[in-house]
Amino acid sequence: MSKRRIETEVIHGGAMPMILDSVSMPIFQSSTFAMHKESSYHDLKYIRLNNTPNQTVLAKRIALLEDGEAAVVTASGMAAISAVLLSTLRSGDHALALQGLYGGTHTFFSDELPGLGIEVDFVDGNNPKEWANKIKDNTKVFYAESITNPLLEVVDLEAITKFSRDRDLVSIIDNTFATPVFFKPLSIGFDVVVHSCTKYLNGHNDIVAGAIIANQELVQNSTAMLNHLGGSLDPHACFLLERGMKTLPLRLRQQSHNALALATFLEEQPQITKVHYPGLPTHPAHERAARLFGGFGGVLSFEIEGGAQVADELLDEVSIPTLAPSLGGVETLIVRPAASSHLGMSAKDRSAMGITDGLIRVALGIEATDDLLEDFAQALSKRGSVAA
Ligand SMILES: *Cc1c(COP(=O)(O)O)cnc(C)c1O
Repeated sequence: MSKRRIETEVIHGGAMPMILDSVSMPIFQSSTFAMHKESSYHDLKYIRLNNTPNQTVLAKRIALLEDGEAAVVTASGMAAISAVLLSTLRSGDHALALQGLYGGTHTFFSDELPGLGIEVDFVDGNNPKEWANKIKDNTKVFYAESITNPLLEVVDLEAITKFSRDRDLVSIIDNTFATPVFFKPLSIGFDVVVHSCTKYLNGHNDIVAGAIIANQELVQNSTAMLNHLGGSLDPHACFLLERGMKTLPLRLRQQSHNALALATFLEEQPQITKVHYPGLPTHPAHERAARLFGGFGGVLSFEIEGGAQVADELLDEVSIPTLAPSLGGVETLIVRPAASSHLGMSAKDRSAMGITDGLIRVALGIEATDDLLEDFAQALSKRGSVAA
């Protein structure tokens, strides 16, 4: 049979054991399981060792969505990212990482890894000459993101995989923003995919979770590290994530539809000076995104005339979006990154990344498109003219 489409795989993929004729996967709320002469510590069936029924069924399904050989689910996106980095980098090693990474990942590289003897250089994702200048004999990893936050950049991902292959680096990509519905990084040569499943994969703003997808060996190494760090996902969260994933393609279709509609509307408004969304033909990497991705995702950001103060007034005036960090859920969320996701970063680092104090990020939910557009129009109309 030909390979099934992702809409079918999220419902039927993986080897879900039918237990007492149950159509959906029951929750195995048991921390420990009977032994059967296991010879390795990592094979003892125990929730922290990431091998109990809800964890393994879910991991199989996630591996399938990313066309990966294996996967492990983790207690959060940062648990996935820290476990994979700590298992691929040792004291004395060096990594290249994109500028403009997710704030938590950026500070993990800049604040935690140097204390363990691991160096990092942040590089421009569109400048292979700079990568060649910064690579060293001890460089082991190239770390990237499919779509960056909050400026929605899509860097030269194909050049990163080629560069990494040619120099034997492990290439790792955070695919949280694009999701496997729109992009499968392993198919263009990345070695490891990580996810914050907190976001689109779960999609309901009600758990934190993560995943690592790669070949057997890399997943085994990451799992051994995860087993020691203790970042395992509990069975109830596994159940919620597995349930949420079944509607991933449906949700994402509406979210990216809403994002394109709002981006197009905002771009026409005289008060809005800049809109960042890879689905807009004016986006600098629109052509690359259109070629690599099946869609452009559900997040956009924009700048409004008047800076932080006016931006905060707009956040007060919209009624559907909730002022909250995070993204990917069914509810539309809105934030000013300088006052939320990137608050942990110095103002100097922020402005070097292009994140101005007046930048607003919107993570679209699945509400009716026209209700969202009308809400933004009424909020903007309090400040001046609104183009239809
Ligand atoms: C949220 C997020 C993370 C961190 O995930 P948690 O589940 O909060 O630990 C990592 N990368 C990206 C791109 C994110 O959006």
